[in-house]
Parts: sequence; C-alpha cells; structure tokens
Amino acid sequence: LSQQLDRAVKNLKGEGRISEINVATTVKEIRKALLNADVNFKVAKEITNDIKEEALGQKVLTAVSPGQLFIKIVSDKLTELMGSTVVPFNPTGNPAVVLISGLQGSGKTTFTGKLGLKMKKAGKQVLLVAGDVYRPAAIDQLETLGEQTGVEVYTERENKNPVEIAQNAIEYAKKNGKSLVIVDTAGRLAVDEQMMKEIEAVKAAVKPSETLFVVDSMTGQDAVNTAKTFNERLDFDGVVLTKLDGDTRGGAALSIRRVVEKPIKFISTGEKLENTLDEFHPDRMAQRILGMGDVVSLVERAQQAYDEEEAKRLNKKLRKNQFDFNDLLSQIQHIKKMGDIKDLIAMVPGMGKMLKDTEIDENAFKPVEAIISSMTPEERTKPEIMSTSRKQRIAKGSGTSIQQVNNLIKQFEEMRKTMKKINRMSGGVPGMKGGK
Ligand code: GDP
Ligand code: MG
Repeated sequence: LSQQLDRAVKNLKGEGRISEINVATTVKEIRKALLNADVNFKVAKEITNDIKEEALGQKVLTAVSPGQLFIKIVSDKLTELMGSTVVPFNPTGNPAVVLISGLQGSGKTTFTGKLGLKMKKAGKQVLLVAGDVYRPAAIDQLETLGEQTGVEVYTERENKNPVEIAQNAIEYAKKNGKSLVIVDTAGRLAVDEQMMKEIEAVKAAVKPSETLFVVDSMTGQDAVNTAKTFNERLDFDGVVLTKLDGDTRGGAALSIRRVVEKPIKFISTGEKLENTLDEFHPDRMAQRILGMGDVVSLVERAQQAYDEEEAKRLNKKLRKNQFDFNDLLSQIQHIKKMGDIKDLIAMVPGMGKMLKDTEIDENAFKPVEAIISSMTPEERTKPEIMSTSRKQRIAKGSGTSIQQVNNLIKQFEEMRKTMKKINRMSGGVPGMKGGK
C-alpha cells in the first residue's frame, strides 16, 4: 500500500497547495489502495470523501511536501475512524463475566486462554468455562490452555446445554472466590440460526459485563459481514482481532469498527500464549493499514531539510544585516508549527531577551504576529521608516497599543544591533548552522 500511496501522492509534488484537480486523482488512488488493504468498499469511499474535503481545506506547509501532508491526513483519518484512543477492558461484577463469541476457527478458544493468562497476571482469580458442547476436542483444547497458563478451567463433559454449563460455572466461581469468569462458546463455519439462538440464550442467562466478538482478520471482507450479523443479535461490547501476525493487511479492522461502531479491544498476534495479546491502538493500526510505518519520520526528515535551508537563508541575511520583520514573522510561524520554542531562541539572537518576561507559549507570539501582519511590505523590510502615524495605524490594525508596537520595534532594533555585533566579532552567527 505504501508504494501505491507514494504513487498516488506523486501527483501532488511541487504543488504549494493541494488543488482540486490533483486531489481528485490522488483520492482515487488512495481509494484503490485502501480497497487493496481489505477496507470495505463503502467505508473506503466514505473515508476518501472525508479526506478529500480535509485536504482541500488545508494550506500545505511550505516545509512538508503536499504528498507527505496528504499521507498524514490519511493516517490521521484512519486513526480517528478506529476510535483514536485505547478502550480499556474493564469487566465489572462479582464475579465479572465475559462472553466470547465468533465463528468457528476465528480464535475464540485461543483468545480465551490468552485473556485468562493476561487477567491472571493482572491479579484476577480467573475461571475459564468450556462452553463448546459440540466438539469434545474443544474442551480438551481449553483444558490444555488452562494447564499451560495455570488458570482453572470449568467443564461439564456430559452436559450438552451451554446455558446450564455457564450458569453452573458462575455458581462455582462464586463459591470458589473467582473474580473473573470467561465463557468460551461454540462456533460454526457460517452464521446459522441455531448457533445464534444458543449464544443469545447464554448471554441472557449469564448477563455478561462484556461480550466480545472474536474475528479472524485474515478473512477480510467476510469479517465485516459476520461482525454485522453478530452485532445485530448480540449487541456485543467489543471486538477482538486475531491472526494479525500474518501478512494480514488489517483493513478489516477499520471496516468493522466503522460498520458496527464498536471498539476493537484486543489484537492477537500469534499462536503462542504469551506476549501475543495486546490492547488495540488505533494509531498503530492506521500505520499498519497504510503499510507506512515510516511516514512520520519521512515528514520529520522533510522538516529537517527545511530547517537547514531556512537556517542557511537566515544566516546569509543576518550576515548582511538584512534580517527584517518578514523574517521574524516567518520564524515565529515556523516555530509555532514545530511546537519547539527553544529552536526559535537558538536561531534568532536576541529573541530570548525579547521574550524574557513572557510566558513562552503560543499566545506569547500573538501580539507580535498581529503587529507584523498590520505592517505594509515596505515597513516590514525597512523598520527605520516607522513614523508615529504609521505606528498608530499598525496599533489600530492589530488591536494592540502603540506601546506594544513601540516595544516590538525597539526590541527588533536591539536584536539587529546584537546581530551586528556578533557578525563583527565572528563573521558569522553562532548556532546558525542549521536546524536541530
Ligand atoms: P475457535 O474455533 O474460534 O475456538 O478457534 P481456535 O482458538 O481453536 O483457533 C483456530 C486456529 O487458529 C488454531 O490453530 C489457533 O492456534 C489459531 N490461532 C488463534 N489465534 C491466532 C493468532 O492470533 N495467530 C495465529 N497465527 N493463529 C491463531
Ligand atoms: Mg474453540
């Protein structure tokens, strides 16, 4: 997908602002790429429409190429669609009951074992319940998992009624001081009515604090339809994505989240029991879907290149003593974008003094920006022409006082003087060799 995206955003190279025409092409390519990553058609369409709007609305930073900004918009959008934040798994009750649902082979029993281990490590007294009454092998499987993890497993091999088994298990848990009961259930190869009725009945009987839907992420689009059906019947609380250790593209995650509007709570990434069950992080999944792990550093690199170029340009201006209000404004805007105030102070000698008594945050720059914005181009490049009437006009235009304007000009002149001195002393400006 990253290759496709690269190609998609190539169209944007060299453009200062993302324009309507190249956005249309890029968005089309991105949609194709998402479909290839297993994202549901309707979802992909919705997302790309949103992305399009957002991209058109954004001014592209001079520093980062439009393409990279575009990728960032896509990545942010995917993250947002998957819920942005980690949704904690926090079942309540005494004992807390968790019901595991899903198709056969999706990884329910394996997940039950893994969750048992995780919760045991978190200090819970865990009881696993073998609720798959159709396959004796499934009971063996859970018992083995219980042995491997040191978690107790409740079974009733002769009983074919999963509702009864689950109820008995909860009674057993109460008597034996268990704080968490995880009920594994049977699954069929396809969604069928009997199975749905059965698990509905189990849910009604045990009133779980959490019903989790387990889905094999390798099944792609089918996973979305299954999730929908299960959700209509069970109104589950969260999704578990399994088998994300393979070369699964992960697009199903996005689609499921979007279609059923339930949080993904866990991802399972292997057959081993330990260290293969994680909380779901939307941002990481977005990166996985984009196959771009490295987009962020790409953007950072672009930024750094900008820093160096900008520093070189500034250095030259400073040496010739041509630093003007435009440069100051551009620096302020640049630094605000970076969110790193110290950079500014390092880059512009005298600036530290200027901000001495101001709390250094974004707002500290607001009056300065406003004042410079109210200057004419000539005033910006030739601060020495500033007359009282000009200052008055600037103060009015920027919503500041004439004192503030005076202060800025005075500080600016001082700054220039400092630079001159430094220039004379060293023939160059220290700390101006470029970026970070
Ligand atoms: P169930 O029928 O839903 O209970 O599914 P199982 O738990 O029995 O799992 C079906 C198969 O998938 C088994 O061979 C598991 O070892 C395997 N499996 C389950 N979870 C994962 C996972 O996260 N990664 C991989 N690679 N295999 C898994
Ligand atoms: Mg099973």
